[in-house]
Amino acid sequence: MEEIFVETHSPEETFELGRKIGAEAEPGSIYTLIGDLGVGKTVFTQGVAAGLEIMEPVNSPTFTILQVYEEGRCPFYHFDVYRIGDVSEMDEIGYEDCFYGEGICLIEWADLIEEILPEQYTRITISKDLEKGFDYRKISIQRK
Ligand code: ADP
Ligand code: MG
Repeated sequence: MEEIFVETHSPEETFELGRKIGAEAEPGSIYTLIGDLGVGKTVFTQGVAAGLEIMEPVNSPTFTILQVYEEGRCPFYHFDVYRIGDVSEMDEIGYEDCFYGEGICLIEWADLIEEILPEQYTRITISKDLEKGFDYRKISIQRK
């Protein structure tokens, strides 16, 4: 298991890291995104979307578990499972076609659906450290 850390000092840097990851992502890849509210998950996700050449605005899909973007270089499946009650809700939205398809999946709050995550995915964790400044973020990228 390989883990790297990236430190960012502005939203732009976090966006840029996301963009790089989106640009390099291979179809079929799954990324999970963990971090408290306001840490920068949406900023990061917007970068990933830009890296996939998606032009339309990407926001937090808080009230829909899944948002699909078809216009980029491959489908982008943006999940936010924060409000999920039971894993069976993932079946209802047909998550398997996304997880095992030809698109890129990004799953916010993926710890809540750990039992259905595949064996291979990349786990991204964003955290603050207020001692290092208000805009400081530590981003861990872990390949499982
Ligand atoms: P989340 O989706 O995790 O709830 P958002 O991406 O919506 O968080 O918001 C992150 C907030 O933190 C934004 O207001 C952004 O401008 C700010 N911010 C400050 N520094 C950073 C940084 N280094 N990376 C990302 N966002 C940052
Ligand atoms: Mg968000």
